[in-house]
Amino acid sequence: MEIYHNRDAFPLMEHFYTVQGEGANAGRAAYFLRLGGCDVGCVWCDVKDSWDPHAHPMVTVEKMTEMVKEAGAESVVVTGGEPLMHPLDRLTDSLHRAGISVWLETSGAHPISGTWDWVVLSPKKFKQPVDSIYAYAHELKIVVFNKSDFAWAEEHAARVGAECRLYLQPEWSREKAMNDLIIEYVKKNPRWRISLQTHKYLNIP
Ligand code: SF4
Repeated sequence: MEIYHNRDAFPLMEHFYTVQGEGANAGRAAYFLRLGGCDVGCVWCDVKDSWDPHAHPMVTVEKMTEMVKEAGAESVVVTGGEPLMHPLDRLTDSLHRAGISVWLETSGAHPISGTWDWVVLSPKKFKQPVDSIYAYAHELKIVVFNKSDFAWAEEHAARVGAECRLYLQPEWSREKAMNDLIIEYVKKNPRWRISLQTHKYLNIP
């Protein structure tokens, strides 16, 4: 179950129109909606301000849809925080009615809600994904922090569907230490691909 129950408005930490930097949709323009609220608690989290949902203004589904339309965006990334702490069905319905594709970024720590065109499952060790989430993943993105993360990545890869795209992404502060290992791993295990945080190289949000 989601933790919060308001279907019509959500705490919005930040929103911006940019280019998706990571994973299968890297390089594509997308409007980001970063929702407040996260109970996963990653020690290296770079958006800790998102954790408290009460620290952010509530914004209605209609207003969010309007903002996306005004920007001229064709795709939206709903991220957090952990967006699945909220029931997201009305948000995805509203965006779809406006002709907008909706992409989700989730740790999978809560069951799915909403209807999605692309689901990125990025499991975190601090709170494991729920069993039901794996079937929805179009993309599995494992953030690699140290060597043991390759075995951990395979545990999750064994649970997603056959069509799910598999990505290894170096944690930003560990990139120098991990890049060579990731390259070697992908050469030996070519069903995996490398995801880089290209938005950080481009210096965009
Ligand atoms: Fe931060 Fe995301 Fe981890 Fe939540 S799931 S603690 S927002 S990195």
